[in-house]
Amino acid sequence: MTIGSTVFGYPRIGPKRELKRAVEQYWAGTIDEAALREAAGDLRARTWAELSELDSVPSNTFSFYDHVLDTSALFGAIPQRFRDLGLSELDTYFAAARGRGGAAALELTKWFDTNYHYLVPELGPGTEFRLAGDKPVAEYREARELGITTRPVLLGPVTYLLLAKGTTPGFDPITLLDSLLEAYAALLGRLHAEGVEWVQLDEPAFTADRTSAELGALRRAYRVLGGLPGRPKLLVTGYYGDLGEALPVLAESPVEAIGIDLVSAPDTSVAVPALRDKVLVAGLVDGRNVWRTDLRAALAKAASLLGSAGEVVVSSSSTLLHVPYDLEAENLEPDVRARLAFARQKVREIVVLGKALRDGELPGDARHETPRPRRDDHVRARIASLRPEHRVRAPYEERAAAQQARLGLPPLATTTIGSFPQTGDIRRARAAVRRGEIGEAEYAARMRDEIARVIDLQEDIGLDVLVHGEPERNDMVQYFAEHLEGFACTEFGWVQSYGSRCVRPPVVHGDVSRPEPMTVPWSTYAQSLTTKPVKGMLTGPVTILAWSFVRDDQPLADTAAQVALALRDEIRDLEAAGIRVIQVDEPALRELLPLRGKDQPAYLEWSVGAFRLATAGATTGTQVHTHLCYSEFGEVIGAISDLDADVTTIEAARSKMEILEGLEFPRGIGPGVYDIHSPLVPGEDDVVALITEAVRAVPGERLWINPDCGLKTRGYAEVEPALRNMVAAASRMRSEL
Ligand code: GLN
Ligand code: ZN
Repeated sequence: MTIGSTVFGYPRIGPKRELKRAVEQYWAGTIDEAALREAAGDLRARTWAELSELDSVPSNTFSFYDHVLDTSALFGAIPQRFRDLGLSELDTYFAAARGRGGAAALELTKWFDTNYHYLVPELGPGTEFRLAGDKPVAEYREARELGITTRPVLLGPVTYLLLAKGTTPGFDPITLLDSLLEAYAALLGRLHAEGVEWVQLDEPAFTADRTSAELGALRRAYRVLGGLPGRPKLLVTGYYGDLGEALPVLAESPVEAIGIDLVSAPDTSVAVPALRDKVLVAGLVDGRNVWRTDLRAALAKAASLLGSAGEVVVSSSSTLLHVPYDLEAENLEPDVRARLAFARQKVREIVVLGKALRDGELPGDARHETPRPRRDDHVRARIASLRPEHRVRAPYEERAAAQQARLGLPPLATTTIGSFPQTGDIRRARAAVRRGEIGEAEYAARMRDEIARVIDLQEDIGLDVLVHGEPERNDMVQYFAEHLEGFACTEFGWVQSYGSRCVRPPVVHGDVSRPEPMTVPWSTYAQSLTTKPVKGMLTGPVTILAWSFVRDDQPLADTAAQVALALRDEIRDLEAAGIRVIQVDEPALRELLPLRGKDQPAYLEWSVGAFRLATAGATTGTQVHTHLCYSEFGEVIGAISDLDADVTTIEAARSKMEILEGLEFPRGIGPGVYDIHSPLVPGEDDVVALITEAVRAVPGERLWINPDCGLKTRGYAEVEPALRNMVAAASRMRSEL
């Protein structure tokens, strides 16, 4: 029956981002398909070798771009518009990922509550699933040739359908379940014929709230797949949270093993009688964070489960896709490093735990004491002394009047979201200072030149509220992490965000404080060059934490309050230096929203509270802006209003301002009139059309005219004409108000 210690998945981008490099070279045409496939094969071989100490080694965790897209390809569900391009199989796959010619890419969206993004399957009434590929079979064989027996990992059929979108109105992809199950059955049959003993099917969608119809689909899926005459044994996982009602459904199905996430959901109830004849794969080593596991506690937890299931084995709590490869590659301060474990170290922990569970005890060297997080009594005392009024500003009307008196802005005021294009010169200067080729002073001088250029350009274009352009920021979170105490940045700690795009989340390891101002010199320099207001530009506390690895020894709310205090001090310093408008970006506010509805109110309470703690120290006459990268506020609309920002800028161009319909937003709002994700330059008339829509819903004094998002990924050839058209459109509309 056994499956043994394992991980639910592993990083695939390569310890030095080898896959990113190979894929991008292939896209650029500098290597051919054979060379790309060879690089991929090398990475897979290295991964299996690294995992070979585990009792059960996963395979098919590799992907050229995204495992959801792999699933679409495997079952013949790549939309026709990509197949019509007449490309090779691999290029058709990349076309679906990135778009090509007139064929727009599949939509990219967030994978559960992680920072990974997947490509949304497009399914319609005409979709006919079939086994169209053999990737899991081929990778199984490839590993076997290397002498390693593996367990192919597949995205589960029900989660796949729940992640998809219907191509025709009212079409629900779940209605395709039976057709998809036939294709899965064909695959399981092939894997069985190949000699595969175990297959893993991931059903993370069931750690979110699900309807009884959806639970019914899960029941049906595993009754059908479990009932197949010749099949491998099945491990079904549900990670990122608590399987809740889905756990008994799976336990009562014929599958042999169930994987649960005991880190995200330590209180998962395993009091499910039907589990008694299953293997319980207990996810006890955190797959999403970078801390060393308390092996003693994990072993005790595993031991406590022994009576609930036929057998208990140890795993990571989720796929390890979300953590960096190897701590050995890093040069970190010893007290921080001693507390960390990346993917390789976590595999080791699982091996040790698996053995300890059999032997009944841990080896002596595994019972280590880890250093405590660094403590800052001053910060703790400040937090303890906070009162509710620290999160409350004067009423909006009072603020609006004071700000108008001070800023004298026209109706339909124009601005941008913060960043201007990150040119080759900027990147080269940053690389040069990092390598020590230029000194800090020279670097600062080059950044100031850039700021001066950007201010001149904005003056010339005629924008009302200017920005300094953020040339000094490599990344909107890392920049702050580098300037705050309590954060560490890694050198190779890359994790996949989507496709070849990787991020390097900082690590919050101790109490957070601000040794000195972080943005004031840049903002005040920019303000010294113009009489127009220049916006101070900060990243909000929730976004800083959402894009970092966070402490797990205290509630996230407590860490958020510490970050908020640092930002509050920064705002006070910006004000003292003469900055009149300050933007605090919170594009990740919705990202951290818990998967289960019951957990959402508490989250919104502390996250909104942190933003307000950061911003409510601003004086009445300081205009506080916030920026969110999306417009589908859904369940967070109330929270966004509760942020109490004077101006909120959001995405809206792609949805043609539909968002404003029925949106009673009580303060300033800037629905983007220019889609910065597209290289197209909007014409003046295009922008006029959007503003015409917007003024129907929002009075001109509260309506701001701005792009959708920051401009850093665009080039000046597009940005300059687009902003000129935007400003011209605003001034034309102003005369008609
Ligand atoms: N101020 C940031 C910028 O303009 C905001 C980026 C974001 O919303 N993701 O780049
Ligand atoms: Zn944005």
